[in-house]
Amino acid sequence: GYRSRAAYKLKQLDDLENVISGGDTVVDLGAAPGGWLQVAAEKVGPPGSVIGVDLQRIKALDDSTLDDRVETLRGDMTEDRTRERVIDAAGGPVDAVVSDMAPNMSGEYSLDQARSLYLARQAFETALELLDTGGNFVVKVFEGPDVDDFRADIEDEFQYVRATSPKASRDESSEIYFIAKGRLTAPLRPGD
Ligand code: SAM
Repeated sequence: GYRSRAAYKLKQLDDLENVISGGDTVVDLGAAPGGWLQVAAEKVGPPGSVIGVDLQRIKALDDSTLDDRVETLRGDMTEDRTRERVIDAAGGPVDAVVSDMAPNMSGEYSLDQARSLYLARQAFETALELLDTGGNFVVKVFEGPDVDDFRADIEDEFQYVRATSPKASRDESSEIYFIAKGRLTAPLRPGD
């Protein structure tokens, strides 16, 4: 079984727009407890690999065949040094960057929304550093005032962007996912 209900969201996003293919290298930001990691490891198959990052420690996947394709890092994606570690772990351009990062909820929507957008922008910066030409980017963000500007910034870098709320997240109605397909240019920091 999957570790989180969130796993079904990535399945729905991928069914919609084919984000992850066999053989891909995928970076999963905000990966704990690991539902998206399980889905991504299944989708990339044996030649592929997945790098998961979270503030929280992520336990190894129970299925060792899947776990062999997964590497996890514990760190804060708002810190440069964590980004450096992700770039090192990737060892070159990647095919997809997916982010399900969300802030700890304060209960004050405008604050939580601003924090969500900040995390989403960090994920976007990471995607620009690492994502290969033609690569795909998925990012969660809470609906709010500056989200249209964020979408426009993503649109500048990809062939197209689609916004969706997966069924699995309808109860948290404020969250949307942008699926950005086909990066137009080369990674800024492709690693080694
Ligand atoms: N996709 C995951 C799954 O399928 O299991 C669920 C992710 S959960 C909704 C959001 C995650 O974002 C939390 O585990 C949280 O620790 C992580 N997160 C929040 N801020 C972060 C940051 N600055 N750096 C790294 N991870 C962060």
